[in-house]
Amino acid sequence: MRTVEPISVTDRSTAPTVVEIDLSAIAHNARLVQKMAAPASVMAVVKADAYGHGAVRVSRKLVEEGIDYFAVATLAEAEHLRKHDIREPMLVMAAPLPGSLPAYRKLGVDVNVCSPAIAREVLATADPSAPLHIHVKVDTGMSRLGLMPEEAPDILSELQAAPGVHVSGLWSHYATADSASDTFSKEQLAIFDDIVRTLKPPYPMLHIGHSSGIFSDRVTSKLMRSFNTYVRPGISLYGVASSTGEPTPAELKPAMRFLSRITQIKDIPTGTTVSYGRTWTATQHTRLAIVGAGYADGYPRALSNRGRVGIDGGLYPVVGRVCMDMIMINLGKPTKAPPVAPGDEVVLFGPGGPSLTDVASWADTIPYELCSRIGLRVPKLHI
Ligand SMILES: *Cc1c(COP(=O)(O)O)cnc(C)c1O
Repeated sequence: MRTVEPISVTDRSTAPTVVEIDLSAIAHNARLVQKMAAPASVMAVVKADAYGHGAVRVSRKLVEEGIDYFAVATLAEAEHLRKHDIREPMLVMAAPLPGSLPAYRKLGVDVNVCSPAIAREVLATADPSAPLHIHVKVDTGMSRLGLMPEEAPDILSELQAAPGVHVSGLWSHYATADSASDTFSKEQLAIFDDIVRTLKPPYPMLHIGHSSGIFSDRVTSKLMRSFNTYVRPGISLYGVASSTGEPTPAELKPAMRFLSRITQIKDIPTGTTVSYGRTWTATQHTRLAIVGAGYADGYPRALSNRGRVGIDGGLYPVVGRVCMDMIMINLGKPTKAPPVAPGDEVVLFGPGGPSLTDVASWADTIPYELCSRIGLRVPKLHI
């Protein structure tokens, strides 16, 4: 019988494509965001495996940096963190499914009360011996989750008065805070402020801003500053600037590098076509690098004939269609090509190659989508 020894994913000769995550960059970004958000505190958003950065390792690092509240998207994400000993208060931002409240109790995580139906279920199952911690969400203009502003004050005061229910937070979410011409956030904030004025003690924490909403007056009112206010950054912790939010890209440190390797080098004559569908033809004698990453690794197929990758300090174009497991890179004329060989590193995005933001725009998407969709088979190496 054959025995199988596991190969090590940390041995880069066995894994052409990896993501490298710099935890010290995340610590740096967290300190910067904490400083800029003060006097508000930071609730770190680590949903979607911390935007692909590895939620357990990232959360541990953030706890070291003094982060005392976390937010995830789903109960399963909260369970994963609890299993790995992340004990801090944690909000599950999804709308709870009917009948799911016992799971929140069991995990000791906070419930998003975002509809009258969920409020009724919380009240009906309230147990003074095991109070449920809730954040009441108001829909101030996103038209996604949340109580309508008219119904929020009554439901809030009923929940605040109920034994076995602990109203930890009142919250909302901006629709346009990342736009340079944003004026709508002010309207949303005014609606939120009106509801804050109806609060009675004990006062819950207030949180409305995400990364692009943290840093300016247009998204945090004077009224909010007199309460225990939190902000909910995600992308900025990972070192990516949301379009108009401060801090500037220069101050944030991108934490993720998406790396692959050259697996073959070949020269093709003028007139030769490359990859599926023959969408690219060599107009000169051309050296190609075949790279071991494709759309199954999270390198979008939309980058066919559009992407660029970092090799040996330069940027080189993707030619032909992106395949499931490979891309072809144009290194230029064989006489002028960089001196590279199979095994050499290719930076798909991150320091040493194009930025995540640039690659996302070439693929007609946003950085959030690219980093949160790194393929399941890609090992994460934390440094
Ligand atoms: C994802 C999310 C955030 C974090 O947003 P960033 O733009 O990454 O800072 C905050 N709040 C809610 C409700 C979210 O869904």
